[in-house]
Amino acid sequence: MTTAQRHSPAQLRQLAQEAGRELEDAPALDVLRWAAETFGRRFCVTSSMEDAVVAHLASRVLPGVPVVFLDTGYHFPETIGTRDAVAAVMDVEVITLTPRQSVAEQDAEHGPKLHDRDPDLCCAMRKVAPLEEGLREFDAWATGLRRDESPTRADTPVVGWDERRRKVKVSPIARWTQEDVDSYVVEHGVLTNPLLSDGYASVGCAPCTRRVLEGEDARAGRWSGQGKSECGIHL
Ligand code: SF4
Repeated sequence: MTTAQRHSPAQLRQLAQEAGRELEDAPALDVLRWAAETFGRRFCVTSSMEDAVVAHLASRVLPGVPVVFLDTGYHFPETIGTRDAVAAVMDVEVITLTPRQSVAEQDAEHGPKLHDRDPDLCCAMRKVAPLEEGLREFDAWATGLRRDESPTRADTPVVGWDERRRKVKVSPIARWTQEDVDSYVVEHGVLTNPLLSDGYASVGCAPCTRRVLEGEDARAGRWSGQGKSECGIHL
């Protein structure tokens, strides 16, 4: 798995287009197996540590798979605890990315609580930029995006081309439902963020995440009332 050849951006784009067609209806494990065989250690999983489902799936086909986590400095303690538990018990290599500025440094330059005044700028500095840098060593990355999470994710391809980063973007559970996730968690004893049992349906940074109400979609608790539904990583 570690000797997979490197690919040029043109080759990566072609691989993404072909696999996007061929793997659209494939089981998640088959999608990840293709990614592992094609990219080897130049393939990683990104995780918000809401749960470890995709990391678990990937570790079954690529033991020691890199799992990239963005530590924004604003996470709930439960999220950091989930990250640490994943690193301790799973056959993965957790890689924690941090922003260039600490929260204190950002406050000094931009004023406190930038997340309340300009969440797009805060996300750009604390999530988008660190991920750009962290993904440089990889040709392909996997996400836990699902089409049923929100209208903005309804067209998520199982395998697609990430033009902005010029990488293959794999969403092996794009076609899964919440019930599929819950079943997998129970069947395989997968680690989940304790906040999911405390009214949160989607877990992000503490200042920008609230519990969801009955009937709301899973991401309704993210940047609630701020006219924002994505951090910018998946746009
Ligand atoms: S989710 Fe909120 S706190 Fe986290 S980086 Fe984005 S704006 Fe900042």
